[in-house]
Amino acid sequence: MAEDTKQSPESAEKLLRARIEGTGLWLGFLAFGAIAALLYAARDHLSHRFGMSFADILVSIPAFFAIFIIFPVQRWHTAFALRRYCAKHSHVLDEFTANDGRRVVMCKRCSAMLIGIS
Ligand SMILES: [Zn+2]
Repeated sequence: MAEDTKQSPESAEKLLRARIEGTGLWLGFLAFGAIAALLYAARDHLSHRFGMSFADILVSIPAFFAIFIIFPVQRWHTAFALRRYCAKHSHVLDEFTANDGRRVVMCKRCSAMLIGIS
């Protein structure tokens, strides 16, 4: 097996970023599952007070929007983990204000965008 065992630092950081994003995606699914469990418990509690059909209606609205927690959680985790990685490896961070007025923190070495994290 003549496999290339040497990696350039750039490809190693791309691999790291992909791993971090994969972990963030699973954390997003975990958050979604936690919300689903909370809504199930809330439905049970609400069904005693208002009846099952009204409890179903009350819970269905947040249940629909719960799916949208996955990608923000992935983004937060990625920004957090990349910031920790850059701090650990003493990368120089560039901080500036973008055209839309948001504060942007960007790593000069691995080009990691760390938006809005202080
Ligand atoms: Zn960096």
